[in-house]
Amino acid sequence: MPAPHRPPVTDPLVAMADRCVQCGLCLPACPTYGRDRIEAESPRGRIALTRAWALESLEPTGRGDLHLDQCLACRRCEAVCPAGVPFGALLLQARGRQRERRPASRVQRLVESLVAHPRLLSVLFSAYRHVFRFVPERLRVLPRPPALTEAHVATRMEDSRTQETVDLFVGCVARSYESAARVALEQLCNAAGVRLRVPATQNCCGAIGAHAGNLAGAASLASINRKAFGHATTVVTLATGCHESVAHALPTTTTTDAIDFIAARIDRLHWRASEEHIALHLPCSQRNVVRSVPALRRLLAAVPGLRITELDAGFGCCGAAGMQMVTDAERAAGFRAPLIAQFEQSGASRLLSANLGCRLHLQNATSRPVQHPLEFLASRLARLSP
Ligand code: SF4
Ligand code: SF4
Repeated sequence: MPAPHRPPVTDPLVAMADRCVQCGLCLPACPTYGRDRIEAESPRGRIALTRAWALESLEPTGRGDLHLDQCLACRRCEAVCPAGVPFGALLLQARGRQRERRPASRVQRLVESLVAHPRLLSVLFSAYRHVFRFVPERLRVLPRPPALTEAHVATRMEDSRTQETVDLFVGCVARSYESAARVALEQLCNAAGVRLRVPATQNCCGAIGAHAGNLAGAASLASINRKAFGHATTVVTLATGCHESVAHALPTTTTTDAIDFIAARIDRLHWRASEEHIALHLPCSQRNVVRSVPALRRLLAAVPGLRITELDAGFGCCGAAGMQMVTDAERAAGFRAPLIAQFEQSGASRLLSANLGCRLHLQNATSRPVQHPLEFLASRLARLSP
């Protein structure tokens, strides 16, 4: 009997979903499946659901939408999938379509409009810093912002040892919360003979909007960044959560994660010994998207005497998941709890994590410092005599 005729798949979402052979190998890697143990909270379930919506064989429902909302976008499923299902790309498409039929929440729209104005956001964070101690605990969705220390970034680098110049992507929330990491990167670059430039007209990478289905908003921010970095040959990103969006926005430029960038220049750096015991959190975006974990381990291993506990409790995923740490704080805290317990039990003096969202979420649950790994590494640089 001849095989039934199947029309060619023209819908890119369905084409991606059709790569899934439903083997289930991704299920043990998925934090939401691990928590709820139901198919709809698994990667395979989400793929089947979004495929059925795309083919209009299933009506969208509030319950179905919730299962898509609760995906952490950690892409652990993608990392273990033998069939190469591009889950991150599929999720973006699915959330884009979801957004067309279901308006975003007021909070999401407010956040998207604020991140598109990073300077205004910095002013608001500065005000938040000043009133922080008067804010009731239940309203402290983010930790107290640090004092801004970035004034000298890109102005102190005229040095006779400078061998190359690269551009730095700053971001939106990171403009306020990551200033210490930028200074640390500047110090490491300085020691490695690299000059950093910070293009003034750059904007948010768009990931916060894209992960909530605002693909048009993300495309418009990408176009602003394309103009801002038009002259650049190499763009360095600090926040692992921004990296992929920046790389997509700048297809003809080399976009490099700061940890990979510094590790590639490790032979130019010298370290002081440190007897400290630190804890290391490896964010999902660093493991599964940027893939700078080996570079980070290499850098930390170069510091003599350092003791490191890698946090792997639960799924290693802290549950911050973009806006979910704000919109569903209780659920996000549930994913974070095993990691914080492991950190507290380890006795480590500080916690390092390369993703800004993870750091903010983790810092909300501990009084010990939570830093970008480059902040720690810069503090361990040996001061060589000139
Ligand atoms: S591992 Fe890949 S092919 Fe297997 S069920 Fe998961 S997504 Fe589908
Ligand atoms: S991205 Fe993470 S939470 Fe979402 S389905 Fe994949 S493994 Fe599960």
